[in-house]
Amino acid sequence: MSKNHCVEPYFLGPKSENEYWVRKEIQNILDHWFQWRKSLFTDDPAAISTKLIEDPKYLEKQQQISTGLEELSTLLKSETPKYTPRYIGHMISEVSLPAFLGHISVLLHNPNNTSYDSSKAGLLIENQAIGFLTDLVGYDKNEVQGHFTSGGTVANFEAIWRARFRLDHFLSLALYLHSKGHKELDVFSDCTMGWDQFDHYIKTYSIVPDEIKNYSFAANNPYKMAELYYKQTGTSYKGPVMLVPGNKHFSWIKGCNIFGFGESSLWGVPLDVNGRMDVQALEDLINKAQMENRPILMVVSVTGTTETGEIDPVHEVQDLLDKLKSDRGLHIWHHIDAAYGGFMCSLIRQPEIGDQVLTELQKKSFAAINRAHSITLDPHKLGYIPYSCGAFLSKDKMSYSVPDFLAPYLDRPNIKSPWSSTIEGSRSASGAAATWLTAKTFGFTSESFAKLLSDTFKTCRDFKILIDEQLPELVYLEPGSTNILCFNAKGESLKLSQSNELTEALFNQLVSSTQFSVSKTVLHTSNYSLSIQRHLDKYEGIKDDEQMTLIRCVFMNPFWQNSKLGSHLKSDFVRVIKDILNESA
Ligand SMILES: *Cc1c(COP(=O)(O)O)cnc(C)c1O
Repeated sequence: MSKNHCVEPYFLGPKSENEYWVRKEIQNILDHWFQWRKSLFTDDPAAISTKLIEDPKYLEKQQQISTGLEELSTLLKSETPKYTPRYIGHMISEVSLPAFLGHISVLLHNPNNTSYDSSKAGLLIENQAIGFLTDLVGYDKNEVQGHFTSGGTVANFEAIWRARFRLDHFLSLALYLHSKGHKELDVFSDCTMGWDQFDHYIKTYSIVPDEIKNYSFAANNPYKMAELYYKQTGTSYKGPVMLVPGNKHFSWIKGCNIFGFGESSLWGVPLDVNGRMDVQALEDLINKAQMENRPILMVVSVTGTTETGEIDPVHEVQDLLDKLKSDRGLHIWHHIDAAYGGFMCSLIRQPEIGDQVLTELQKKSFAAINRAHSITLDPHKLGYIPYSCGAFLSKDKMSYSVPDFLAPYLDRPNIKSPWSSTIEGSRSASGAAATWLTAKTFGFTSESFAKLLSDTFKTCRDFKILIDEQLPELVYLEPGSTNILCFNAKGESLKLSQSNELTEALFNQLVSSTQFSVSKTVLHTSNYSLSIQRHLDKYEGIKDDEQMTLIRCVFMNPFWQNSKLGSHLKSDFVRVIKDILNESA
């Protein structure tokens, strides 16, 4: 197979080009399913007789279902076509064929991965699929723990839950030690003491777990605990903070709200001119938290920011946290929100392909994500898996601990059943199976997959050239260094407010023309002041607004680099934009 044909077998194709083969495989899936039922409990009599099936009333009921199904199919005709390269709106694209086939085969068996009873094969598949994701991100296979979630939001909550579990244990122990006169309380440092120090205290003072459980904010009434804290220490407990890059994905705000820290406990780390976390600013915030006696629940780095797709300098963040550990004994939890960009790790697994598109900084970032405590991945984004499919991974068993207060340190891992260690209860195995079959065949660390992702980066570059050469009315946001491109219409007065209006109008026209599906994002000066200023400098724009409206294109579709289709679509894109701008001029 020639190199440029390596992704075609894995997608249906915009004209259902692989239709014949897909029909055959779906037929195979159904055959297996029917045969499976027939092959079990062969002595049991049938429940539905041929005579009944041929009864006119019976056929009538079936006809009803057929009619309903027709109606459903008609409704689906108005669904947004996300399979076509013309769809560049959100982080969705054509799903891969192995993912689709894996998803439906498991759907027919309907396992519930909440327990081993109802999911014999399902949980096995899930564990193996976690293994494939482990290879992708570079965690140690012998240590890793993880499970599939309904998406990135819940995977992020899984991280908060575990970081809170750890912090709560450290705080309880510190309060206990203080109450017994063993040690002064230093809430900031104590809450990041690390499990070794924790174990050391437990052994030194022969502490029984139940004794410190009485000091837990999570196991007891937290308001009563705060009172007790005040009585005991003479100062009030202000609760932990979470340090999340200024572009804060909404899931982190939800998390602070749901876990009861309060939304104001989310401290946004300022972004640099490229829209990435500023590591110096992170260090300043850590020091500020110490000054204010606010323990740090976790630091979050994002690989693949939701607005612009940028990659935070994970290695620099981890270097800083390692330094704080060795210099000051602070064990700060580092979580990587790789919901979008996690699959880009395939590009460092295939350096020959990756080197064509990744910057040195991006390579170092991806190579460092296995140093963090935990990672969120969204197979339903750049894994090309159907919804809903997210995943949470932690580097080792300790970072996965959560079920109950009773001493993770006595019985590691303290995981009794899958149910007790996941936020969600009943969980489908379909996402895991879709991931499993894609990993086994297409492969997330394979040349083909790396090629697919590098093509998405190249399409983003192509569009920058297209704008430079053919659409001088538009200005794209720098750096746009992955596969997400944001641009605005600059207008004539060169004022940001006017550019925002024009861009908004262009967006609305694009939506109503239905030729290309794009999305819109609004960057606020509170987070993105440096990026916005650099952008305006590109066309001597004047900042007379606190926000900047951009049209956002997410290039995930596998067929943009197809020479015939790609060039047809690019010239059509230029035509559509020019038509809209000319009409409104
Ligand atoms: C998409 C995304 C999420 C949320 O994931 P869902 O699957 O939509 O719940 C979280 N963080 C980032 C960076 C994302 O891109």
